[in-house]
Formats: sequence, structure tokens, C-alpha cells
Amino acid sequence: MSQAGGRQFVLGVDLDGVVADFARGLKPIAAEWLGVAESSLTDQISYGFREWGLERAGGYDALHRFAVKDRELFARLPPIPGAPAALRRMSAAGDIRIRIITHRLYIHWFHKEAIRQTTEWLEHHGIPYWDICFMRDKAAVGADLYLEDSPENIQALRAAGHETIVVVNSTNDHLPGPRAGSWEDIEAMVRERVDRWKAERRPHSGPAP
Ligand SMILES: [Mg+2]
Repeated sequence: MSQAGGRQFVLGVDLDGVVADFARGLKPIAAEWLGVAESSLTDQISYGFREWGLERAGGYDALHRFAVKDRELFARLPPIPGAPAALRRMSAAGDIRIRIITHRLYIHWFHKEAIRQTTEWLEHHGIPYWDICFMRDKAAVGADLYLEDSPENIQALRAAGHETIVVVNSTNDHLPGPRAGSWEDIEAMVRERVDRWKAERRPHSGPAP
């Protein structure tokens, strides 16, 4: 593929909270796990879901294990509205390489199942990508721009000098911009950044030596 400067712009895309609506998918399973009405669980969650009072039923890790192993959480999450179609448009433009970077290998001895559910979900929703990295340390992967929602990851990426767009949800209200509240905004911001990147890489035209 012929691209400006010989390579594509690498877009590092987190899954949970960015492409997949993790909180909405987990909520009915959490209600079942706790034995409470789904309506009693707030949507205004912070990172780790402590508002749902999971400690009374073994804590977050116990729920996570149940949700992924017994309810196929990663295969059933609803996509964030607009995400699959926007990623298809970005991929089709030809100058963006989509690199999925997700920290889903969270339970010991369960990686095959987590990866299977994840790749099936990506294909089921027609989400294009060339690279997929199951990584906790996202800065170690390398990308020209990251889409991320976890406050801890955003701060670590920015501290390491990596441009990161905050994909807005209730866990990251306190973080400074650039911030995007919808995939319409994400797509426009990414397009602007890619165009600037291409302009910067274009060889300067000048008089022939
Ligand atoms: Mg996330």
C-alpha cells in the first residue's frame, strides 16, 4: 500500500469503554451476581465499579471471572454507538492502521477464552484492524495516537509523551483534553491529526540542487 512517507498513521484503540460498552454489558450480570434489580445500580461509576457494592459478593475480580467465564461477557458486549462504522470509515480511508490494544488478559489460565471471545466479537461487529495487542503497558506497544478511557492509562501514556484522546465517560471526568464524547467527535479529531501528520511528513519542495 502506498502511503505518505511509506507508512500508515497508527491509531492505538482501546476496547473497553471506547469501542465496547463494558459498563452497560456488565451491569445486568452484576445485578444477577448481587441478586438486586438492575435499576438499583448506578451508571455513574468510577474506575473499578466501587459504587455497585461488589465487596459484599467477593469483589470485582470475582464478578469479572463469573462474567467472562460463565456469561461470555466479551462476546456479548454492546458496541459504543457509532464505533464500528467510524472504524470502518477510518480503515477504508487507507492512511490509518488500526491497532487494537486491550488489557483483557486479566484472569490466570483463561487467556484462550478471553482472546476467542474478543476476536469473535470484533468480527461479528465488522470492526477492522491489522494488529491486536493484549497488553497492560500500552505505552510499550507504540502508536501515533491513542484512544483511551482509563484514567490510569491516559495519565501513563501522556506522561510518556504519547498523544491520547480521552474517550469521555464517568470514570475520567477530571482529565484534561483533548476529550471526545462521541465517535463523531473522535473521527473528526483523528482525521485532523492524521492530515497534520501527513503534512509534516511531506518532503519540503524547494529549488533543485
Ligand atoms: Mg478502557
